[in-house]
Amino acid sequence: MTAKGEMVYAWTTNADLAKKAECGGAVSGLLKYALESKMVDAVLAVKKGIDLYDAVPTLITDPKEIDNTAGSLHCGSLLLAKLVKKYVDGASNMKIAMTVKGCDAMGLYELAKRQQVNLDNVLMIGVNCGGTVSPVAARKMIKEKFQVDPDTVHKEEIDKGQFIIEYEGGHKGISIDELEEEGYGRRTNCRRCKMKIPRQADLACGNWGVIGDKAGKATFVEVCSEKGAALLDAAVKAGAVATEAPNPKGIEMRTKVEGAMLKLGDKWRKKNFEGLGEGRARLEKIMKETSRCIKCYQCIENCPICYCVECSTKKPYLVPPGEVPPSFMFHLIRFAHIADSCVNCGQCEELCAMDIPNSLFMHAQQVALEEMFGFKPGVDMKLPLLALVDEKSERERLSATGSDQIFDIFK
Ligand code: FAD
Ligand code: SF4
Ligand code: SF4
Ligand code: SF4
Ligand code: SF4
Repeated sequence: MTAKGEMVYAWTTNADLAKKAECGGAVSGLLKYALESKMVDAVLAVKKGIDLYDAVPTLITDPKEIDNTAGSLHCGSLLLAKLVKKYVDGASNMKIAMTVKGCDAMGLYELAKRQQVNLDNVLMIGVNCGGTVSPVAARKMIKEKFQVDPDTVHKEEIDKGQFIIEYEGGHKGISIDELEEEGYGRRTNCRRCKMKIPRQADLACGNWGVIGDKAGKATFVEVCSEKGAALLDAAVKAGAVATEAPNPKGIEMRTKVEGAMLKLGDKWRKKNFEGLGEGRARLEKIMKETSRCIKCYQCIENCPICYCVECSTKKPYLVPPGEVPPSFMFHLIRFAHIADSCVNCGQCEELCAMDIPNSLFMHAQQVALEEMFGFKPGVDMKLPLLALVDEKSERERLSATGSDQIFDIFK
């Protein structure tokens, strides 16, 4: 029996699946097994759409379709967490296994503690994540820096610190450091991200630490929960997935790479946050940038922390309607409601119609609040500092009971 904390190299025993997979196909093998064995009702994963810049979330109930989701899409900057809340009723009536990057896992935890997702029904297969490149930025980078027509690229990967493309007529790799020095590369929130190995998931899977003859052919799996251990054990027993003990040098290397990535995250945080200035200068900068806002609501629609039925930004006495740009109160409301719990997923920036660096503004505040009060969002079920409520039904219930708190934080 595998136990929480154990580590293994793992791969799928299905040769066809292994060919399509990124690093041996343990993740797809486990997802497929979970569905076939009816451990879950559906799998939520990501498949390639019209091209490799187009990552499409997909809910699968037929195990055969898992094969279409194998492989890592580094231009897949989407967030899966909110889809669970939006489209499958927070997994309230359905068991789901899903692949999660660090930000997906963090988003799920923040939704779960607000009772918007039922984590008991979610099996999280975490993937380590060095970062994603926005599809538009990736096309621009490939055209300008790689001097390759982005439409001729049929494969991309991030390996040993390089962004590598394969295209009609050859392949090319350029170091991520060099790309980022020149303004290309990963999304800025990913550069600041410090959720590299998502241990709040049930399993944390990645290629870091796989060395020797298994390099590229197996995935390093860290077992992070009993649920994860049960899935792995059952899949091995059924012959869907095979495992072996990891090379001790590989374990060491994985720890070192994780440490280096965390340092890099700190470096980017310092650089980005210092670039925002301090105090009044920071406020003026935020006011200037947000004055481009056209009130398209994409930031609210896609933020995992925003789920209120009646959003305060739509209340005429707070944000006068019919004004573009909206009053600064629109952004102040978001800062007040979300800053303590922002998981730096980047959606509010990625999808902003006016390219306003919203996630930078929110993340800078989150980090400052974390330093002040110690609350770290997205890692466990601890409640946020300000657990105020804005749901109509909840308000009605609370006014009947005389309290204005979702959670009694004063207990
Ligand atoms: P597969 O069987 O190929 O399954 C991959 C799973 O990932 C599928 O379920 C697929 O739907 C899902 N997926 C693909 N793209 C995305 C996406 N954009 N968002 C969410 N899910 C997605 N490992 C490291 O050790 N270091 C890294 O720096 C690192 N960076 C990664 C960055 C990204 C964007 C992704 C998706 C993965 C990254 N990994 C990293 C994990 C690694 O690439 C493999 O996914 C992992 O080793 C599992 O391999 P596999 O063959 O078992 O996966
Ligand atoms: Fe990966 Fe972190 Fe970026 Fe999410 S925010 S895609 S976990 S690097
Ligand atoms: Fe993600 Fe932006 Fe919401 Fe933060 S504020 S959790 S970066 S969408
Ligand atoms: Fe987001 Fe606040 Fe609107 Fe709720 S009220 S959706 S937390 S901005
Ligand atoms: Fe304004 Fe951008 Fe939010 Fe749209 S996504 S409402 S433009 S800040």
